[in-house]
Amino acid sequence: MSPRLALLLGCVGLCCGLAAAPTAQAEWLNRTVDGIMGTRITVELWSEDRVAGEQAIDAVMDEMRHIDASMSTYKPDSEVSHVNAAAAAQAVKISPELFGLLQTALYYSRITEGAFDITYASVGYMYDFRARHRPTESQIQAALPAVNYRHVLLDPKSSTVKFAHGGVRIDLGGIAKGYSVDRGIAILLARGIQHALVTAGGDSRIIGDRFGKPWIVGIRHPDRPNEVIARIPLVDTAISTSGDYERYFDENGVRYHHIIDPRTGHSASKVRSATVLAPTATQTDGLSKTAFVLGPEEALKIYAHLKDVDAIFVTPDGRVLYSQGLAPPR
Ligand code: ADP
Ligand code: MG
Repeated sequence: MSPRLALLLGCVGLCCGLAAAPTAQAEWLNRTVDGIMGTRITVELWSEDRVAGEQAIDAVMDEMRHIDASMSTYKPDSEVSHVNAAAAAQAVKISPELFGLLQTALYYSRITEGAFDITYASVGYMYDFRARHRPTESQIQAALPAVNYRHVLLDPKSSTVKFAHGGVRIDLGGIAKGYSVDRGIAILLARGIQHALVTAGGDSRIIGDRFGKPWIVGIRHPDRPNEVIARIPLVDTAISTSGDYERYFDENGVRYHHIIDPRTGHSASKVRSATVLAPTATQTDGLSKTAFVLGPEEALKIYAHLKDVDAIFVTPDGRVLYSQGLAPPR
């Protein structure tokens, strides 16, 4: 189960649902695997046939491993690592899948006014949150000119990517998990699954309901992992939560964490956590970093132009802000 979302997986529906199970074979299946894409993957689904259900979960996990192998910057042989090594010098031919995801990433950069930017990694690679290591101010300033999504040049005719500036690195850690969740859901839908949850780290998507009731998702308190600040009933939606409590270290009262402001190269701290709801997990992942960089008001203005996007933010002073579509009645 995702520690950050503290998903309260349909505990409301569970008791009544068991009695309503239509056949002996039909059942809820679930599996959690740690360590793919550096995170925890959970798949839970309703299947009329146990074997077919387990095979569907296998297929989702295989897809997650495939995406990890091609997109990880921790794997020197991944496609993204090859791009990082070569694209400043020459155009690099890439797979249609990576090409498509880079196009999507650049789209989120444009609509978030650059808050989402995969070239954050040109500075971001110098942070190691586990080792409590951060770059010096002069290292940040030296690398910062490479942070700009406009440096990523895609040529659809040749299916290549080229960097227009030296020192550019990309990292899809802010969108690949959402994308992989959508791929997982597509695999399940193609196999006729109609009730499921797929989670990769902070990114989840739900199809259908759970025992005739909404799935209940809890959003955790930024400082108290076992406390929930809100519970939301969800059906047929995606949800991503980004938090400054995921990968971080504190030093002299300052929190250094994994969401980087592309304008400064420092951790982005205008909110403590941001949860975004939208139809797909690629959307919610691409949008969940915005409020950290631009602040909740600007993020809400951007989301208001998009269809079916809602958000919940926790501010540094502990307030919980909701977008209009979710605002509790006054
Ligand atoms: P998770 O990876 O757990 O789903 P998030 O969705 O919050 O968490 O994404 C955080 C990740 O996004 C970071 O670990 C990093 O790889 C990447 N990232 C950090 N800052 C940015 C940024 N400004 N734009 C795009 N991606 C970013
Ligand atoms: Mg994410």
